[in-house]
Parts: sequence; structure tokens; C-alpha cells
Amino acid sequence: MSNAELTTIQPVELLENLKGYPFLAPYHLSFCCDQEGGLSRVKSRFTICGATEHPPHCCRLCQNTLEDAVQRAIGSHQPVVFRCHAGLLSFAVPIRSGDLPFSCIIGGGVRDSEIDPAQMESFAKGDDGDAVALLEELVRLPAVTEQEVAETAHRVHELVPSLLTRNLHSLVFEKTMQRLSAVTGVSAGIDGARTAGDVMALVSETLGILFDIARIALLVPQGSGSFAVKGLWGLDPDLGSMPAAKAHGIFPRNYAGQTITIEDDCRALFPAVESDRATCIRLATADEILGILVLFDTTLPPRDEMLLKLFTGRAASRLHQVKAEERHSTESAQAAKLLTLFSNLSRAENREELHQQILGMAADLVEASSGSIMFVDDNGETLKIESALGMNMQLAQSMVVQVGTGIAGKVAASGHPLLVNDIEKDKRIGTPNRPRFKTKSFVSIPIRLRDDIIGVLNLSDKKNQGIFTEADLKLLITFADHASIMIERAISIERADFLEQLSITDHLTGLYNRRFLKRRMEEELSRSIRQNMGLTVMLVDLDHFKIYNDLCGHLAGDRALKRLARILSDSARQMDIVTRYGGEEFCVILPGTSKKESIFVAERIRRAIESEEFPHEENLPQGRLTASIGVSSYPEDGSSDVVLLKAADVALYRAKAEGRNRVAIASGAEEDDGTHIRKVAQNQP
Ligand code: GH3
Ligand code: MG
Ligand code: MG
Repeated sequence: MSNAELTTIQPVELLENLKGYPFLAPYHLSFCCDQEGGLSRVKSRFTICGATEHPPHCCRLCQNTLEDAVQRAIGSHQPVVFRCHAGLLSFAVPIRSGDLPFSCIIGGGVRDSEIDPAQMESFAKGDDGDAVALLEELVRLPAVTEQEVAETAHRVHELVPSLLTRNLHSLVFEKTMQRLSAVTGVSAGIDGARTAGDVMALVSETLGILFDIARIALLVPQGSGSFAVKGLWGLDPDLGSMPAAKAHGIFPRNYAGQTITIEDDCRALFPAVESDRATCIRLATADEILGILVLFDTTLPPRDEMLLKLFTGRAASRLHQVKAEERHSTESAQAAKLLTLFSNLSRAENREELHQQILGMAADLVEASSGSIMFVDDNGETLKIESALGMNMQLAQSMVVQVGTGIAGKVAASGHPLLVNDIEKDKRIGTPNRPRFKTKSFVSIPIRLRDDIIGVLNLSDKKNQGIFTEADLKLLITFADHASIMIERAISIERADFLEQLSITDHLTGLYNRRFLKRRMEEELSRSIRQNMGLTVMLVDLDHFKIYNDLCGHLAGDRALKRLARILSDSARQMDIVTRYGGEEFCVILPGTSKKESIFVAERIRRAIESEEFPHEENLPQGRLTASIGVSSYPEDGSSDVVLLKAADVALYRAKAEGRNRVAIASGAEEDDGTHIRKVAQNQP
């Protein structure tokens, strides 16, 4: 844009100014200049005379009349009044000014008050269009006499030179300044707008009121290769959509933020608007198109164009900010939601429960009413439903899918999530909607564990019959990432439990554990029976250990247990088996040892414990940490591990009852009335 363009008076500005004079109110004004033998005029939605909104065929005829009148006016330097084919009156006033091209102002759109309506009717009937509608339009035009038109033309002729020389410049300047200050004011409002909707409402209001633009639309990119056409001002809010390529095509390759005028394509691009002319400007940042503003029926003088660019540039940067803020706040809201979800997940007790919870949460996240979690088998060949929502679980579990086939199978094989809006139309699927889906939209997400795909999360039947969105997909992918960490943890916990099953030692004391005891005791007993030798079982239980724990803390308790384990091991012979039987109960098996012999061993152990100095033991009721011991032997007290252990336990109970810190020997005849039986080893480590 050159400086001259900015400082010279523009035809639109002259017309705008003239329109402010009350004597010109009935007239439609346009501007016409002589260019290389043809006439060019400032285009409007109307015919030249402005009489009718939809040009009748007289438009072509009227071109000749107009050209003739313009020639005469320019040639004579005088205003010319002329009558068109339809009998309507117009004037042409020549202007000659350094600012403007050699040209005419055309005033029209009035009818001769003396003309016979019958004559107009005959004209209307000659037209191809709707004759009645046209006649109605013509009759509604302001009626004037030829004399009045001539006087009006004369006044315009006298007014224009003074307007151009004296005050139009200052008027235009004043108006521009007014608009500039208004735009500056509104810009502050735009900077404070909180949502994209607020920004656009301010933009359209400003353009509509300040720049006097009657109809405004906004093209908004909507992700799927198209732009939504939205009416912002003077139009229906929803004007359909347009392919992205078409929208981008409005602007030339070397577009540099200027306004673009479309004329010939206008109707084709915006069929719903029916306009022959629009000014378009792009709202964009360096790397993102935020929208395209379309101002219909406008011709903006360069000064206004500059203001418009300034203003829309400001709006675009705010729009960009607002969008980033909106994205950020939804992201952090989602992150917070995911965090609570996962803290709940960690409370699952086992793998099945975890899967069920993961599925339920994923469904909640995207408002799905059914879905499933499938896992790949160890060979990586098939997928099986492990957890299902909204479908019969038995039926679900019977379904096995081959990796690579079917929807879930393909997702498992490719590792790519799948979002389908219409299962019947989606080319990637090509299968008819199976009856178990209520709606045709679903999502399928791979569950990854490091580099492997271990399963697939499927969700379908969005509530309210809706379709899943790209945002749903994104959310689920993030969710699946976190969920897989939980799944991995569950797997490793299960594995640890399994290893524990395989192990034979207790991790705190390093002694054999109870499972091992059972196996070894069976072996030792059968050997003793075979070799006709005795075998003794000793149950050692710390006295008031709960109090010790309470007073000294669990860690000190653990240390005491370790020390006790060492005392027992030190007292045992090579062939003896020392095990941790339960929490603070230990079991010692003495193969080849008779009841008589074992009394001394038990007593030695009891004393060793009693004399051991445990930290803080002085706080205990007896002032020492001690143990009670129950002893039973084969063959006197039984010949199976279960019976012998029970007899030792009954004896131990007696030792406790008799005052603790003592050894009690099963009497052989020791009757068990049931009430004495303590639950052996309630507290397994
Ligand atoms: P008594 O046997 O004399 O009747 O009294 P008690 O206090 O020892 O009673 P009980 O056998 O009911 O309590 C056993 C306590 O041992 C309960 C628990 O706090 C503690 N305990 C069990 N296993 C462990 C363990 O692995 N570490 C620690 N620190 N304490 C344990
Ligand atoms: Mg105890
Ligand atoms: Mg106990």
C-alpha cells in the first residue's frame, strides 16, 4: 500500500460522505470512471441505478444509457439527468480532481412520479424474472419529478469540488482517527477476552458497528480437512462447511497478511450468503491458521484496510493465546483427573480387580458404556478378553481373536490406536456393524509394556449415542500408558509371590519357612518310624511379644526375632531343623531325640533366651524378654506331623497358662478338649 493511497480521498469515502446529506437520502449513489474505453464502477450488490436488488435484464440495456450519460456529463462538465429503459430517473455528475480519477457520481434508484404505472407494468412483464415481484419493487421506489432530480444533480455538482478541496480530507481524517481510537479501545477488550468465542464476538461487533459491515462470516479449521463456515454478524450462525483446500485457495501463494477481495468466486464459495463480493483476511500466527474472516459486500478504503489489519492481527494473537490457555487448562484438568484415577487403581487387590478397574475408569473417562480389556497370550498369537463391561463375561471370555485379524487383532499387531466414527463406512474395517454394538463409533488402544504390546483396550457405545473424538483418543492413549505401569507392577508382584511360593526360607530370619517344615517333617517322621527312633517337636513362642513390639517398635521387634533365630540355630545340632513357624513362633524338629533327652535341650534354649539381653526388655512385665516352649515327641504323643504339632501347641498353651518363661512337655495323655487349641501360627511372616 503506497502513501498516496493512504492520503488521497477514495471514491468510497466521497460516496460515504455524500450519503450523509439528507437531500441525497432517496438516492442510491455509485461511482463510475472512464477507463480505457470502458466504464468501471464501484461495485455494489445492486444494479447501477440501485433500483432493484436482483438485476433484471434491463441491467444490460441500462449499461448503454449509462455510458451515454457519462460521456455527455464528462464532455460537457455538466450534470446530466437521464431516464433508463424502465423509465427510472438517474443523474450523472462529473468530477475532476487531483485526488480522484476523471469520473462521475451516479445517483439513481428513484422513479418518475409522473410516469404511468401501466407503463412500468408492461416493462416488468417484458422481464424474464418474476414480473409481479419486480413491479412491486419498482412501485416501492421513492417518487420524484424530473425537475427535482435535475436540482439534486446540480447541488451535488456544486458540492463536490468544495468537499474535495476543503473539508473532505479533514472529515476523512477525523473519521479515521475516531475509528483508530475505537479500535485501540476495543483491542484492550480483546486482550482481556477469556475465550475464543469472546474474542470473535468483539471482533464481529467492532467490524459490524465501526466499519459498517453488514454481514460477517468466520471460517474455522475443524481438524478433519475442512473449515466450518460460521455466521458472526448479520448471518445464520451455521453456514455449513468448506473443504480446507478451497479455503486456503482464497489466498495467493505469496499471501502476506493483506486483505483479499473475492468477486467472481464469492457466490460459489459461499452459496448460503448470496453475495457478489467479499473481503477476506486471515487470522493466523506464524505456524497456525486460526480462522479466515470474511466481510461481505464491502469495499474498504486503504485507511480502513490498515486499521482492519492492525485490529485482526491483535485479535489473532489473542486468539492464539486463548487457545493455548484453553489447551493448557484442559490438559492440567485431565492430568489431575488421571492422578486421582491412578491413586484409586493402586488399591486393587489382584490382577483381575485391577483390569476391571482400569476398564471402568477408561469407560468413565470417555463416557463409554461398554468395552473390554484383552491380553495377548504368551505365544503372542491370540488375544483373549480378561475383563468386560456391558457384555456377558462368559460369552466375552469365550471369544478368542487372532493377533493380526479383526479390529483388536490389528491394533495388537500394528500398535496403532484406532478411532472409528462409523464402523460401517470406515474403509479400514469394512465389516458390517455387529449387533452387539449399539452405536457405530468405537476406540481401540494398544496396551504397551516397554517394547511389547501386551493387550488392547476397547471402548464402544458412547453414552448419548455420540461419537468418540480425537480428544477422547488422546486421553485414552495417556491413560493406557499409565495403566500399563500398574499392570506391570501387578505382574511383578504376582511373580514375587510365586517366587515366595517356591522359596524355602523366611526372608527375615533366614531360617527355613513353614512350607519347608511340613515337607521335611514328613520325611523325618517316616525315617524315625522306619528306624524305630524317637523324634521331638518343639514350639517356641516369645512371651508378651506384642507388648515388646508396642514398646520398642516393630523394627526392634524384627531385630529380636533375628536374634532369637540365631540362638535357636546355635543351640541346634547339625541334623536338627529350625524353622520360623509363624510371626514370633519357631519350631525346632529334633530327629532321633527322645522325649527325655529333649527336656534338657528345651530347657537350655529357654535359658539362653532368658539370659540374652534384648534392648529395652526391662519394660516388659517380667523385666526380661523370655519364651515359652511346648514339647511333644514320637512315639508318645502321636505319629503324624499334624498330631505332633498339635500336641506341642497344647503343651505350649499350658506353659503360657502356668506363668510363661517355661517348658511344658506333652504328657501323652494330654487331652485336648478343643478350647485349648490355639490357632497355630496366626501370624505368618
Ligand atoms: P504371649 O505369646 O505371651 O501370649 O503374648 P504375645 O504378645 O506374644 O501374643 P501373640 O502371640 O498373640 O502376639 C504375637 C505378636 O508378635 C503380634 C505381633 O505384633 C508380633 N509379631 C508377629 N510377627 C512379627 C514380625 O515378623 N515382626 C515383629 N516385629 N513382630 C511380629
Ligand atoms: Mg507370644
Ligand atoms: Mg504367638
